[in-house]
Order: sequence, then structure tokens, then C-alpha cells
Amino acid sequence: MSEHADCIFCKILEGSIPSRKAYEDEDVIAFHDIRPAAPIHLLIVPRAHIPMLQDATAEHERLLGKMLLLAPKLAKEQGAGNGFRVVINNGPDGGQEVYHLHVHVLAGPRPWKGMAV
Ligand code: AMP
Ligand code: ZN
Repeated sequence: MSEHADCIFCKILEGSIPSRKAYEDEDVIAFHDIRPAAPIHLLIVPRAHIPMLQDATAEHERLLGKMLLLAPKLAKEQGAGNGFRVVINNGPDGGQEVYHLHVHVLAGPRPWKGMAV
């Protein structure tokens, strides 16, 4: 039911593009990144199509908090035993490729593939 027809993450949310889901609830889903940059690489994605962090407003405060609180929980569930990294890319200079806000959660034994995210 998204009006963002060309957004790949909206398509994943709708189910028209498959994903390997790790979590979902009424506000967010989390799935495995298709090109993992670490042994564990999840994307936490809000159901709302918010393009970038700077498009979020006060009404998204609870949602943003939820996404950050999910990061350690999902990292642990996926087997992260020794820490994790959280990344949000924003805009061209921030290295953003998909313009639907998402939180990368990277974990697992190093070495990783550099800072590819
Ligand atoms: P970003 O550069 O922060 O916008 O990251 C976008 C991420 O989405 C990249 O790490 C991609 O590998 C990942 N990605 C793109 N398409 C898919 C997909 N169909 N399923 C899972 N991850 C994807
Ligand atoms: Zn979207």
C-alpha cells in the first residue's frame, strides 16, 4: 500500500521483493543485507517511507528510538557476541544508496570487508 512505487525497501515491505527477514512488527522490519559487509549485517527499516534522517520529525521520535533499541537486541539474536556497529548513511556524501531511511547493524568476528557501508 505504498505510494513509493520505485522504492526497493517499500517493495520489500509490501512483499513484492523477497528478503531474508530477521524481525518485524507494526512499525519496522529488519532483514539481512543482500551484500553483507560483515558476518552479520542487518537493515532495520521503518514501514513509513521516510527518505532520510533529516526528513524525520518530532512525530518519528518514538520510531527512531525503537530502531536504535532494536539494534543490540537483533545483533544478539543473530549471534553477535562481542559488539556491533550501527550506521545510518544520509545523502550522496553520506554514501546513501537507498532513499528509505534504514539502520545498518554490523557484527560478527573481524576482519570485515572494510567500511563498505
Ligand atoms: P545505503 O548505502 O545505506 O543506502 O545502504 C543500502 C543497503 O541496502 C546496501 O547495503 C545494499 O546492499 C542493501 N540492499 C539493496 N537492495 C537490497 C535488497 N533487495 N535486499 C537486501 N538488501 C539490499
Ligand atoms: Zn520506501
